[in-house]
Amino acid sequence: MQDSEALGSSEVDVAVVGAGAAGLAAARRLLEQRSELRVIVLEAAPRSGGRAHTVDPPEVGGPLDLGCGWLHGAESNPWLSIAESHGFHIDRTQAPWDVQYRDLGFPPADQRAYERASSAFYARLAEAQRDPVDRPQSTLLQADDPWNELLNAVSTYVSGAELDEASIHDTAHYRVHGSDWRIIEGYGRAVARFGQDLPIALNTPVTSIDHGWAGQVWLETPRGTIRARAAIVTVSTNVLAAETIRFVPALPDKVAAAQGLPLGLANKVFLSLDTPDELPKDAHLIGNVRAARTGAYHLRPLGRPVIEGYFGGRLAHELEAAGEAAAEAFALDELSGLLGADFRRRARLLTCTRWGQVASVRGSYSYARPGASGQRASLAAPVNNRLFFAGEATSPDAFTTARGAYETGRRAADEVLSHLRG
Ligand SMILES: Cc1cc2nc3c(=O)[nH]c(=O)nc-3n(C[C@H](O)[C@H](O)[C@H](O)COP(=O)(O)OP(=O)(O)OC[C@H]3O[C@@H](n4cnc5c(N)ncnc54)[C@H](O)[C@@H]3O)c2cc1C
Repeated sequence: MQDSEALGSSEVDVAVVGAGAAGLAAARRLLEQRSELRVIVLEAAPRSGGRAHTVDPPEVGGPLDLGCGWLHGAESNPWLSIAESHGFHIDRTQAPWDVQYRDLGFPPADQRAYERASSAFYARLAEAQRDPVDRPQSTLLQADDPWNELLNAVSTYVSGAELDEASIHDTAHYRVHGSDWRIIEGYGRAVARFGQDLPIALNTPVTSIDHGWAGQVWLETPRGTIRARAAIVTVSTNVLAAETIRFVPALPDKVAAAQGLPLGLANKVFLSLDTPDELPKDAHLIGNVRAARTGAYHLRPLGRPVIEGYFGGRLAHELEAAGEAAAEAFALDELSGLLGADFRRRARLLTCTRWGQVASVRGSYSYARPGASGQRASLAAPVNNRLFFAGEATSPDAFTTARGAYETGRRAADEVLSHLRG
């Protein structure tokens, strides 16, 4: 479909809003089950994939994932077989997150002390999940524990937010277990390839959804109005909360649910290396194990001549606001502190992400505010059997992940199919 032309048919059976992992999975499922259905995926951005996005900087000689990169719970992750069925290759190297390269800045005795503090923290978390009253995870920190900062840093990578913002109860529902593997050609590329032959209208932001008419949903876009029998909305919670899509009648419960499940922020900064061979393939460093404001650095992922820095939470917000030079300087300061002062002369910024500034996403992945864990089910609930909801934040047990997004897309498609049959 040409990106600029008016939308050919203004009448479809199902309109899917958003061509990320959830929207593509929904459209694929609908057409697999009922190939005669008229389906259209409406996507605001000029590409499909959403938070799954692979780029190919020529100087790297291989793809980089700006969004999702890890097949979490890989053995049972649906994207594993999808990627393999499209001829993509899987790297099964164990994720290096638990090993500090050469123990730099993190002597073995400190590593053992942190492991003890971390195990005790997660044991308290498991215990507190049984308490009917939800609280912020930070209430489980012990005063004056020297490892509180690192526990907070880890929370910013996992949730995109510090422990004082995140619900204890929500963590009880997360059920992704197993290995963390990678798609060598890129996770984003695999997601986009999966959607390649689907009927997708790019550059087509939905501005309003009128669902007040029996059996009909009207979706307004700058390229025309679509009339559908049902719509599946897969946009992120921060997009829903910002109300850039106007629902008629309004959906205050959905907006409240989205506000309870905001996207945390995690950004990547990629540094290119002049002398990559001085560093090992797939090693890992925490920049400063005594600080919550610190990056996690993946040295030479898949052997490429780069370092992938990862910033989360308040640090990510600060650096995103300050601009890419600030992100580069922060990463180079931390890495030079560990790898030697002159390291900064052999590395430079290649690219960095600003997921909070991407208007059609507005963050990285959802966490539940204390008390809001139950909002995942509220967000997922259909409205009047005309409007259906998917996206990672609606997953009961794999939120934050691309696999959760995929599963919710299929779930919403099945809800639509049973409604259309009924
Ligand atoms: C830095 C980073 C690292 C990550 N790492 C991992 C990882 O290693 N493993 C993992 O499993 N997950 C990871 N994730 C999370 C994963 O990428 C997401 O959970 C998943 O891609 C979300 O898919 P989705 O379909 O729910 O939402 P999205 O990908 O956000 O899709 C929603 C789509 O809706 C579109 N849209 C928005 N507004 C409109 C509108 N008005 N009209 C039409 N279209 C609209 C958007 O452009 C977007 O394409 C990471 C994310 C980030 C940002």
